[in-house]
Amino acid sequence: MFQEEEKTLQEEEKKYIINTYNRSLENTPLAVRGKGTFLWDESGKEYLDFVGGLAVNAFGHAYPPVVSAAREQMERIIHTSNLYYTAPQVRLAKSLVENSALDKTFFCNSGAEANEAAIKLARKYSKLRAGENKYEIITAQKSFHGRTLATLTATGQEKFQKGFEPLPPGFCYGIFNDLQSFESQVNEFTCAVMVEPVQGEGGVYPAEKDFLRGLRRLCDDNNLLLIFDEVQCGMGRTGKLFAYEHYGVEPDIMTLAKALGGGFPIGAMLCREEVASGFAPGDHASTFGGNPVACAAAFAVMEGLLQEGFLDDVASRGAYFLEKLELLKERFPDAVHQIRGKGMILGMELRSLGREVQQRCQEKGLLINCIGEKILRFLPPLNVRKEEIDSALDILQDAMTEVFNGE
Ligand SMILES: *Cc1c(COP(=O)(O)O)cnc(C)c1O
Repeated sequence: MFQEEEKTLQEEEKKYIINTYNRSLENTPLAVRGKGTFLWDESGKEYLDFVGGLAVNAFGHAYPPVVSAAREQMERIIHTSNLYYTAPQVRLAKSLVENSALDKTFFCNSGAEANEAAIKLARKYSKLRAGENKYEIITAQKSFHGRTLATLTATGQEKFQKGFEPLPPGFCYGIFNDLQSFESQVNEFTCAVMVEPVQGEGGVYPAEKDFLRGLRRLCDDNNLLLIFDEVQCGMGRTGKLFAYEHYGVEPDIMTLAKALGGGFPIGAMLCREEVASGFAPGDHASTFGGNPVACAAAFAVMEGLLQEGFLDDVASRGAYFLEKLELLKERFPDAVHQIRGKGMILGMELRSLGREVQQRCQEKGLLINCIGEKILRFLPPLNVRKEEIDSALDILQDAMTEVFNGE
């Protein structure tokens, strides 16, 4: 009976929803309920969820403080528009500012929108300060900044751009972790450099310290703004509240989304006080931006992240997970090319058959993400328990044994 229901829903999905998402694995779950690191499908099958809503579910599913903050705010007021003040918005902005190197906040609803805001602000500020022809932004190859026309152009991967030309002008690309390639792109039109401190969608590549420090110097020497896209690697994901803290380098603009609302859609663009002066009333806006329910949920996430010792614990559990993945690499030296990542954003690059491993894991009750054909990405909730990591590793090892040793 359940089987039949599922089929109908899957058929209806194909009939009514535009085909943009790749759900090509067999028996892709129909998710009905989640709690912490666990997700259940309509047949009652239990999964360990190491996709984590793609780095969104910072505290897993149904985290009580997020649920009650959102519910309580919803009962008070759901939406007012930005013509009026609301307390959750101000409270969240204050918390983000007090806990970061930035001074001011603009709220929106997604990562792409946060980056759009950053791109607009970088252009506006630079034109005001340095002249009309300051508009070009250098981004990195293998980066990911979103799917709007400007952000997919900022994204240094052709596969996201193909077919959407003409792309907006004003973007060029350096090679990630190659400072010289960025230096050589600077010209009279350059206004900013934008990178992810840990590249997520591109395949889990952490920046090297010298690279980010070099970019800071490059920006200072040439009056450029340094923009960090922390949409995926921010909000505790790497074991620090913001990934830039690992590097001793502070950006002029930073973007957040994904985990910010703990599952509620919200994005934010933060910047230094002086840079904020680039925007005047009317220059930028978002109808839903700073919605009180989303902000109340995000404030609960911030409180969770700021609990004494929590982020250190994320770092040490992340290090444990990484160490165990390295052991798996030793066990499968021909199959595994490299283990990468920081905190709870980890990747295992295989030489091939990533989708097969992902499929076997899913069958055995572990959800993981696969980038392209080869890179397995792990994004568990930040509060994932050590025993859950162990269970996931057991399943992963079984799946790899089947795929690579042909069992
Ligand atoms: C996911 C992501 C985005 C885009 O976020 P959306 O909410 O999907 O628009 C931008 N930058 C990075 C680094 C991301 O990982």
